[in-house]
Amino acid sequence: MKAEILAIGDELTTGQRLDTNSRWLSRELGLLGVVVCGHTTVPDTVADGVRAFAAARERADIVLATGGLGPTADDLTREVLAEVAGEPLELVPKALQAIEAMFAARGRAMTDNNRLQAMLPRSAAMIPNPTGTAPGIDLPATPAPRPLGRVFALPGVPSEMFRMWADSVQPAILAMAPDGGTMQFRVLKCFGAGESAIEAMLPDLIRRGRDPLVGITAHEATITLRIAARSASDEACRAAIAPVEATIRECLGDLVFGEQADELEDATVRFCQTSGLRVAVVEGATQGRVATLLAEADGRQETCVFAGANQRGTGTACGDMVETAQACRRELQANVALAVGDLSSDAEGREWLPIAIVTDETVSRHEHLLGGAGSLRLSRAAKTALDMLRRHAAGLPPLT
Ligand code: ATP
Repeated sequence: MKAEILAIGDELTTGQRLDTNSRWLSRELGLLGVVVCGHTTVPDTVADGVRAFAAARERADIVLATGGLGPTADDLTREVLAEVAGEPLELVPKALQAIEAMFAARGRAMTDNNRLQAMLPRSAAMIPNPTGTAPGIDLPATPAPRPLGRVFALPGVPSEMFRMWADSVQPAILAMAPDGGTMQFRVLKCFGAGESAIEAMLPDLIRRGRDPLVGITAHEATITLRIAARSASDEACRAAIAPVEATIRECLGDLVFGEQADELEDATVRFCQTSGLRVAVVEGATQGRVATLLAEADGRQETCVFAGANQRGTGTACGDMVETAQACRRELQANVALAVGDLSSDAEGREWLPIAIVTDETVSRHEHLLGGAGSLRLSRAAKTALDMLRRHAAGLPPLT
């Protein structure tokens, strides 16, 4: 199957906002084995929209669009699709009820223009939107002699779009596949090596066309591996995924910190809880980033972790920083302190950040070379500090 993606909105064509929805959808479609043969960015006018949808439907089996489903006068995707289908817009009572329920749940009054969001082209089906007001539109394909692709139009708001994709669009696309079947995913999260180093540690697992397919992505130094298997049943998918997961875990060892939606901070807090650690955090250059990550971790409420940031700085020399960390650890009656120091530059202009794990008896130090640009390099440093804590709490040796 072939797909095309349309991103709708003046804020995209005028360069005020980057179209990240199309990138995300392309990856998802790729995992389903659907070939994406084009992306188009379209402004908020009916003529441009009609032209783009009509052309994309001629070329592709599936047209996925985001944006233009809001209640305001510049949200024209409904009108565009009615014209593309050659049908009037009709009120769909189920869609109206869902919008009314959403307003009631938020304690807000619904205005008349929200009723517009419940109007869909006559032959279209509504795609439920569990987290927003705008329902999506599922316009059926038309058969030979003039086959035109099926359209899925979703809201532009990324969080709403992600959820509607997972709940409705992905299953609908899987059901369209000639061989039917189902699909299962398994996600493993890693920290401590770069994307290419991780790929090199895996025996030819990332090759395209493999089955199960393994995808790799990097976000702020966290590497995500996604195993996708397609088969006749969920059970068969899981059976195909299991040996691939075992190979990955064997090759990457303790670089794998978690799975599915796990983040590094969740895994760190989990290990601290299991080891009964109460942690004090002292930060210089990272300015509270480590403390914030810990405060947002799953299970934070029940954990014994205490996080605090030291706005005065902690010193560039490891020795000063360790002294500050020890004092803070004692003051907070914690059994371990995680300390991030201030920046220092070497003769070659490279910037270094000391990080230490300090207990009553031991000090484990690391000099972190700050790579990358902007705030990303500090997020990466904060995560490196967290990973040191994770390794300490899990009884693993520090990474060199
Ligand atoms: P709404 O009900 O919010 O009006 P909508 O379907 O009309 O939903 P838009 O108004 O086009 O969507 O966009 C809503 C938000 O989503 C905006 O913040 C916009 O910048 C963002 N957005 C829209 N399209 C994209 C895209 N392709 N990539 C990333 N963000 C997007």
